[in-house]
Amino acid sequence: ENIKARKTLDQIQPYSPGKPIWEVQEELGLERVIKLASNENPLGPSKKAVEAIEQGVLGLNRYPDADASDLKTAIAKEHGVEKNQVIPTNGADELITLISEAFLEQGDEIVVPDPSFSEYDFGAHIMGAKVVKVPFAQGFTFDVDAMIAAVTDQTKIIYICSPNNPTGTYMKKQDVQKLLDAVGDVLVVFDAAYSHYADADDYTDGTEFIRQGYPLLTLKTFSKIYGIAGVRVGFGIAADSIITSILKVKEPFNVNTLAQLAATAAVTDHEHVTQSREANSRGREFLYEAFEELGLPYTKSMANFVLVKLGDEGEALYQDLMKKGVIVRYGKGWGLPEYVRVSVGTEEENKFFVQALRELI
Ligand code: PMP
Repeated sequence: ENIKARKTLDQIQPYSPGKPIWEVQEELGLERVIKLASNENPLGPSKKAVEAIEQGVLGLNRYPDADASDLKTAIAKEHGVEKNQVIPTNGADELITLISEAFLEQGDEIVVPDPSFSEYDFGAHIMGAKVVKVPFAQGFTFDVDAMIAAVTDQTKIIYICSPNNPTGTYMKKQDVQKLLDAVGDVLVVFDAAYSHYADADDYTDGTEFIRQGYPLLTLKTFSKIYGIAGVRVGFGIAADSIITSILKVKEPFNVNTLAQLAATAAVTDHEHVTQSREANSRGREFLYEAFEELGLPYTKSMANFVLVKLGDEGEALYQDLMKKGVIVRYGKGWGLPEYVRVSVGTEEENKFFVQALRELI
């Protein structure tokens, strides 16, 4: 109240993390608590990434490579694009903020399917831009026609999260094509954070459209299948002119040395990726079977989490699961009070969760 604040940030609240394991353990006096709430890799980090960090520690007196050159090269090679089409960031979260800073100003609009990842709204709100939400169709499928219809002269960015967090559904390749052809020069940010888990023939991570020259930016992260959420690395791939605009608002040393080393090693650790993907597919199937047995409606997922409908008692069941030592993500924040989103854990964690659920239903 006593400063000349220029900005209205009424629509934003400071980020409040979910309860960590130790807090739930202490509060409820529980011996075993598992967290299936953040879509992390339950198998742990890529071993190659861990080794790279161990070796890199002795170089920490130096600043990181501001260009993240080795990491860019590795990502570019892996995705069949040029090095100048890649930007690594301090988590994909930072990239969403940078994109917002580079391309949005007061009065602009973004189009976002609803419910989806909340950082897109955050990025728009810090720039004074407006968020236009487009609900999903039946079964949480993307309503592409409604998205196209929501675009106005003010629309600067369309976000597509595919597979979508929290629904697990994806936008079919032909629908991405249809949307791109309909919206012309509006930037499409294609969040493919969970792309490695998607196993449908008509899934795309968007990069093929970049190669064809469409104004699309694919966003990915090292926090999910690569298992290094703690070091914070994400990246974007797009036409070099789009990347150059984002570079203008980036801080010089946004990706720290250990993060660069870890991510460079992880991106070629194909064995870790394959193992993680296969374990996830088995885990998803296990959860589907359990939900069917318990008569709980769920949405088929292309990601490493499943959205399940617990019904009117959703909030109580979410709390009761916590009391039994299982932290999942409650759906109220997405306007889904009857749902929870559960991350696929290890085989043992999945069983622990299903057992807890069975005792409550
Ligand atoms: N996009 C989506 C869809 C996500 O779910 C997440 C992580 N929750 C991110 C981006 C951000 O990932 P990072 O950890 O790299 O910031």
